[in-house]
Amino acid sequence: MESKSTVVIIIGAGPAGIACAIQLKRYNIDSIVFEKDKIGGLLKNANIVENYLGFPNGISGKKLVQLINTQSQTAKINVKYEIVMSVESFEDTINVKTSKNIYHSKYLVIASGTKPIIPKVPIIRDDIIEKVFFDIYKLGEINGKKIVIIGGSDCAFDYALNLSEFNQVILLNRSTRIKALPILQERCSHSGNIQYLDKRSVLKIESVNNQLLLLCNNSEKLTADYLLIAIGREPNLDFIKNDLLNNPKVFQIGDVKNGQLRQTSIATGDGTFTAMNINMILNQGN
Ligand SMILES: Cc1cc2nc3c(=O)[nH]c(=O)nc-3n(C[C@H](O)[C@H](O)[C@H](O)COP(=O)(O)OP(=O)(O)OC[C@H]3O[C@@H](n4cnc5c(N)ncnc54)[C@H](O)[C@@H]3O)c2cc1C
Repeated sequence: MESKSTVVIIIGAGPAGIACAIQLKRYNIDSIVFEKDKIGGLLKNANIVENYLGFPNGISGKKLVQLINTQSQTAKINVKYEIVMSVESFEDTINVKTSKNIYHSKYLVIASGTKPIIPKVPIIRDDIIEKVFFDIYKLGEINGKKIVIIGGSDCAFDYALNLSEFNQVILLNRSTRIKALPILQERCSHSGNIQYLDKRSVLKIESVNNQLLLLCNNSEKLTADYLLIAIGREPNLDFIKNDLLNNPKVFQIGDVKNGQLRQTSIATGDGTFTAMNINMILNQGN
């Protein structure tokens, strides 16, 4: 197996990871970014990003991802499309095993973002799995469909707005509390294609005539072509043991460490901050 070394390994080519790699490049510090999917991370799911500076009319998540991609190519960021499987440290070296190779570095930056929370109630059986999604981009360009979205947060409301342009959407919230931004709630309430139902949990899902039949807690039955689940996200750290997270040469940036405070500007700020920090540490001879 071929072996590779660099100064900084970055796991994840979302906004945090790419911002970090770009700032490292400005110091001529060598880095490799590993990405298991596509550059841009979670942003590809965003309908319109209105709070990232420089875009006075907002920008779609897809367009912002294209720009991040172009910027990373212009800056000649070394992105390798490999899944990071595990991380170990030995003396002063971090060893990263990917789906293709083993790499070594002095520092590790974890920018792996979050993964969706799976419902505790086992409602997703094998026979319906192809119609159940956790990320909107995986649905592709669809129209004329009926989609049930479970969730009451920004993400669920953003998905509803996005899909409602060409589809019928039912938003199911298990409580009466809506966590989504007021502006998203208002836009959803003005859409003729979004029905919002609160105090609803899905207890069982069946496949009937190539559609999903959802049985709710109030005995209501809903049909849908697809189910989109957006009930929260948790840090994506499956590839690393907890004790390594305390290693002073291992940094976490962006959504993976920001709890509920998950925003693009925070992620990119973390990336730039950490690259500057690594530069200072290297200048001190460490
Ligand atoms: C629907 C929706 C709407 C949003 N709207 C906004 C908005 O309007 N404004 C805003 O500021 N933010 C918004 N966000 C949040 C924003 O997308 C995130 O805050 C941002 O993408 C976080 O960047 P990140 O780099 O920390 O993580 P991510 O974007 O999650 O990137 C992490 C990357 O790491 C990769 N990865 C994970 N594990 C591995 C592994 N083992 N090996 C290799 N690669 C790996 C992933 O594939 C991913 O590409 C929205 C998010 C969603 C879902």
